[in-house]
Amino acid sequence: MKKALIFEIKRFAVHDGPGIRTTVFFKGCPLSCIWCHNPEGISFKGELASYNHKCIACGACVSACKNGAHILNEKGHFFERGKCSLCSGCVSICRGDALKLYGKAVTVDDILPELLSDKDFYETSGGGVTLSGGECLMQSDFCRELLAELKKEGIHTAVDTSGYVKREEIDKVLPYTDLFLYDIKAIDEDVHIKCTGRSNKIILENLKYIDSLGKSIEIRYPYVPHFNSGEAEKIADFVKTLKNVTDVKVLAYHNYAASKYDALGMENTLPGTLPSDEEIRETEQIMKKQ
Ligand code: SF4
Ligand code: SF4
Repeated sequence: MKKALIFEIKRFAVHDGPGIRTTVFFKGCPLSCIWCHNPEGISFKGELASYNHKCIACGACVSACKNGAHILNEKGHFFERGKCSLCSGCVSICRGDALKLYGKAVTVDDILPELLSDKDFYETSGGGVTLSGGECLMQSDFCRELLAELKKEGIHTAVDTSGYVKREEIDKVLPYTDLFLYDIKAIDEDVHIKCTGRSNKIILENLKYIDSLGKSIEIRYPYVPHFNSGEAEKIADFVKTLKNVTDVKVLAYHNYAASKYDALGMENTLPGTLPSDEEIRETEQIMKKQ
């Protein structure tokens, strides 16, 4: 049976499609969005995160790690990432809940029981299961297998994608996907490259393709002041040309993920300016008008 690398299963999610849902987060993303709020989903490999602000200096990790990756001295706790072999030995014994392993290899059978356990909630709320990430379609064979099992159980399925994948990856999941949650970060290619490191050509072509097949699509526009905030009208104009868009959501940029960047030893690229409520309302109006 195929395995996928995931970093979280979140139950009772209410922002990942209609109703109450369970969301499966997959590791690995081909884009490098400067505002990413799931930086633990960017790498295609497992990672140990060390939330040093939670450390209570108990020293349990120092004794547990055979590789000497943890150091505790008068200045505090230090984690030497290069020495870690991801054995997970230090995670469960950490008394401060400061260590977290992002990345677990699972089969469909491993996770299906948990996804089915909230079936009653899905039915009463019009919810279901969402595959997200990272970019879940980078592991499309697994997604196909999982979505097919969920459809056998009559569960509503959603795929949350950046669209930056080969057409064949989309084709694999199309028959088993009820709704695509699809990001448009920018229509202007230069703006897109500045914000994500990649062209948006494939993304827009794939979106038109999914739309042409009559699949339901919810468009999501992550609104980031000074980066892609000038794209609202262009996005609205583009969306107007599609026939199967059921909703357009403006997602206000936030910087809650800052501690994750530190914990993962990543450069924090989060922009400093947050959008005001008024800016978001105005942008929503632009979308509604169209
Ligand atoms: S996961 Fe294993 S190798 Fe890595 S720091 Fe913890 S105990 Fe050491
Ligand atoms: S086990 Fe956790 S709380 Fe204890 S020293 Fe290590 S990181 Fe800090």
